[in-house]
Amino acid sequence: MSPVTETATHRVFAPSANIALLKESATIAVSARAKALRAAGRTVIDLGAGEPDFDTPEFIRRAAQRAIDAGATHYTATEGILPLREAVVALAAAEYHGDEPITPADVVVSNGSKQSLFNACFVLFGPGDEVLIPTPSWTSYYEMVALARAEAVPVHGDPTNGLKVTAAMLADAATPATKGLMLNSPCNPTGSVYDRSELAAILALAEERGWWVISDDIYRQIAYAGVAPSLLELAGSRDRLVVIDGVAKAYAMTGWRIGWAIAPRPVAAAMSALQSHTTSNAAAVSQHAALAALTEREAAGDAIARMVREFHARRDAVVAALADEPRLPFVYPEGAFYLYLDVSATRGDERSGAGTRFARHLLDAHGAAVVPGAAFLTPDWVRLSYAAPRDQVLEGVRRAITAFRELAP
Ligand code: PLP
Repeated sequence: MSPVTETATHRVFAPSANIALLKESATIAVSARAKALRAAGRTVIDLGAGEPDFDTPEFIRRAAQRAIDAGATHYTATEGILPLREAVVALAAAEYHGDEPITPADVVVSNGSKQSLFNACFVLFGPGDEVLIPTPSWTSYYEMVALARAEAVPVHGDPTNGLKVTAAMLADAATPATKGLMLNSPCNPTGSVYDRSELAAILALAEERGWWVISDDIYRQIAYAGVAPSLLELAGSRDRLVVIDGVAKAYAMTGWRIGWAIAPRPVAAAMSALQSHTTSNAAAVSQHAALAALTEREAAGDAIARMVREFHARRDAVVAALADEPRLPFVYPEGAFYLYLDVSATRGDERSGAGTRFARHLLDAHGAAVVPGAAFLTPDWVRLSYAAPRDQVLEGVRRAITAFRELAP
């Protein structure tokens, strides 16, 4: 494109009302900046990314290769191949003991769990609706709710309890317009895990108020006291529950783009109809890879255990390294692969929050990338991902402590 055309386009392009409030994903923006610095010859430790640094296990890669040779190169049903939906049902049915058994018709396979989350928001919420989002939460929840033209209502969690919310906090934030809530445990960005009693209280409130609950279970298997509790295990009914999961994190399969939703049948049908007009099915070969991940349980169990063991060891190492700087508080991570640091002591007179200044200083002066907490509506914090080799993670933490001491002498 010539520079003249580009200028003209810039002049005439007025974003539609659909994306008026849309912000670039801050987590992706940080990784892009780190990559750009690397391309310019700097050595950068990237602790910004939210993806496992392991290869997809070999048995899954082999299954995908076999599937290609067997012809998995065509469209599939929009909602995904039946064996994969059956595999999702088999795993979920082992946990769910409420009314209305789960069937493959309640499952929609999508291009990553991100698409399932978006589709769920888009079919359940609309103008005039308020959606409660425990905060901090993953940056995309706020944007997805806004894209549905509903209002995201951040409910700030308790810093003395892992920045988690309670049922009482959600009740306080609710109005007659509240239509639902989004929950993520283990949580990105804090690594906090909701225990059974916390989840049961939230579920009881949602049931009493008739709210939809979207439970994002993507990190459930990456938890250090065993698989994290799920709303699915506790729910007596699935009438207003949508459970989202996928293979990206637990199986180190981010690039394959397979997620799914388990939803009440009419909701699943609406999500599938929406997807049929946007992306159609998730890639056929990826669905077969995910099928292997979900059905070859012994190999999958070994692979997950190996990765979780390593994340666990890094978590312990990071927490031990932070003992060097007692003025730097953090949420004790019980799952996922994130460490959430409170850098409010470095606050200057900037408006953007201490986290943004800290992250910029850490990247520019010390070559380590972390995500500013503004992305998660908590601007005095930063998120450090320990999904990177252990020596790099520890070096990143040392540099973060140095940066902290420079900004908060
Ligand atoms: N949910 C949360 C909380 C995440 O952190 C992420 C990815 O970072 C996703 C969902 C998206 O995962 P997927 O790769 O399955 O779309």
